[in-house]
Amino acid sequence: LELIRRVDPEVAEAIAAEVRRQQQTLELIASENFASRAVMAAQGLVMTNKYAEGYPARRYYGGCQFVDVPERLAIQRAKELFGAEHANVQPHSGAQANQAVYFAALEPGDTIMGMALPHGGHLTHGSPVNLSGRWFRVVPYHVSRETEELDYDEVRALALENRPKLIVAGASAYPRIIDFERLASIAREVGARLMVDMAHIAGLVAAGVHPSPVPHAEYVTTTTHKTLRGPRGGLILTTAERAAELDKAVFPGVQGGPLMHVIAAKAVALREALTPEFRVYQEQIVRNARALASALQDRGWRLVSGGTDTHLMLVDVKSRGVTGKEAEARLEAVGITVNKNTIPFDTEKPFVASGIRIGTPAVTTRGMKEPEMELIAGLIDTVLSGSPGEAALQEVAAQVRELTAAFPLYPGLP
Ligand code: PLP
Repeated sequence: LELIRRVDPEVAEAIAAEVRRQQQTLELIASENFASRAVMAAQGLVMTNKYAEGYPARRYYGGCQFVDVPERLAIQRAKELFGAEHANVQPHSGAQANQAVYFAALEPGDTIMGMALPHGGHLTHGSPVNLSGRWFRVVPYHVSRETEELDYDEVRALALENRPKLIVAGASAYPRIIDFERLASIAREVGARLMVDMAHIAGLVAAGVHPSPVPHAEYVTTTTHKTLRGPRGGLILTTAERAAELDKAVFPGVQGGPLMHVIAAKAVALREALTPEFRVYQEQIVRNARALASALQDRGWRLVSGGTDTHLMLVDVKSRGVTGKEAEARLEAVGITVNKNTIPFDTEKPFVASGIRIGTPAVTTRGMKEPEMELIAGLIDTVLSGSPGEAALQEVAAQVRELTAAFPLYPGLP
């Protein structure tokens, strides 16, 4: 940081403030995590300087012998971790990974199916404001009104009626296990390919605490920075048969030069993910989510679908008279970070929303376990129930500071 401060004190100050924010707040955003110092260091060094268009040993630039090493390692480790035949580690982000699959598998105007955004799907799964919604004919599928779980019968009926070329599965805000085998059988029945975007659950899948989509889907995309706890980026797994087509779709299809410093960091993160400790970590994420979910339910909060099987839950705060937007702001004021989120069949606009999404990956990285989840549920309940007075809110903020100090993050930083 001293180096940056000498050149650019304003940026250095913002980074220092962000370090303190991460250290001193309770991070409950389900898509966020804290990468290891080794992952961050790999990303911060000289590989950022290197152009390496192409793939290892097949580059369009000279001098690639050393950047080839982490890319090869990242590919090999991703294949081993997920049991995949082929991996492409170059996508700059989850959105770009998805775009590359669309470029590989589809022509403009083709029909695709994806989970509706307000029901938990991602923007890149066919939202009208995203390229996927503009360039393809999108048939969204939903969760059932009764169970708030994925309605596989509807998926099948829509698939039979619309004959999509690609069915996209996976979600950003869905707390239940997804039955990939069932979706694959629907895809087979209608002659569609299946793409699973496992961005949220990749770490769980790697550790075997969520069923893997890899044996069932032609394409599996993911981000590397959520439960997988790597650098910000994307990754695609596919079959040996589709490998060449997919690699061409990533480069030169939708990207130019790969971010070799990020790929180096992906390799480091994937090595971490292959350790027994990573499995224990993922198991704890799920145990923590269950503990937090039931502690919130004990305090009278309604959870979408009645609970969670994964790292996240959706709390219907509107059922207790608070909007998602208001809940997010109130929690942020005491140092608890969540995001507002629409819930299925929401009557509020996405910017207001009736729910908040809560996830346990980041607090679990800090070492918190079930007793802390019970405590956090109590803090959330105090902040969101009725109109807590200033003294009560200050007490919660003090407890957040105490809890984060007891589970230090990045000691020695900045
Ligand atoms: N896919 C899913 C399911 C996601 O939840 C996200 C991120 O929120 C993405 C894709 C996009 O990832 P990125 O933000 O890296 O483009």
